[in-house]
Amino acid sequence: MNLNSPLFDRIRVKSRSKQEVRNNAARCDHPGCTTAGEFRAPMGRLREGQYFCFCLDHVREYNASYNYFNGMTPEAVARYQRDAAVGHRPTWAMGQMEGAPAWHGPSDDPSRFTDPLGMFGQRAGASKPAAEPAKPRQGIAAKKALDQLGLDETADADTIRSRYKNMVKRLHPDANGGDRSLEDKLREIIRAYNYLKSVKLA
Ligand SMILES: [Zn+2]
Repeated sequence: MNLNSPLFDRIRVKSRSKQEVRNNAARCDHPGCTTAGEFRAPMGRLREGQYFCFCLDHVREYNASYNYFNGMTPEAVARYQRDAAVGHRPTWAMGQMEGAPAWHGPSDDPSRFTDPLGMFGQRAGASKPAAEPAKPRQGIAAKKALDQLGLDETADADTIRSRYKNMVKRLHPDANGGDRSLEDKLREIIRAYNYLKSVKLA
C-alpha cells in the first residue's frame, strides 16, 4: 500500500467501530460516493486493523489496486516475512550492514537484524552466506510446517515453494474482497514456509 498515493490522500482516513461496520451504517469512503459502505477493505501496512468501508464497486476498485507489500523492496518483503516467523518480535542486536535499503516497517530497522542462533541462515544483504548446516532429517517442527502447507514429508523444495506461493495468493486480502479474517492463516503459512527455508527444506 503506497501511503503517499494521491488515492490514499483523497480517501477519508477514519477507523470505524465494529458496530458501525456491522450496521453497514457508514457511507462508502470513496470520495463523492454516497452509496452505503457495506464492504470492508484493510487500509494496509502501518494501519493494521483499520478499514475503509466501500460500496461494492469501490471495494472492487480498491482491491484491484491494493497490494499489502506495495512500495517495499523485495528484500524488505523477505524481511517482513522473516519477521512474521518470529511474530514481529524484535530479535536483532547491534550491528551494521552495508547497503541495506531504508525501510520503515512494523519492526523497523532491518539493518540491525542479527541472527545469533543462526535460525534463518543467510541474511539478506549479508556479504557471505552462513555456513550450510547439515541437512537435518525432518523433525517434528518441519513436519508440522509441511502439514500447514498441506504437504507431507515427501514434498521437495520446488513443491513446497509453489504450494507456498499458491496459498499466499489465495489467502491474500486481494483475493478475498479485502477480508482480513484469513490473515492469521496467512501469517501461519508464512511462518511455516520460513521455517522450512531455515532448515533448508524449501
Ligand atoms: Zn462507493
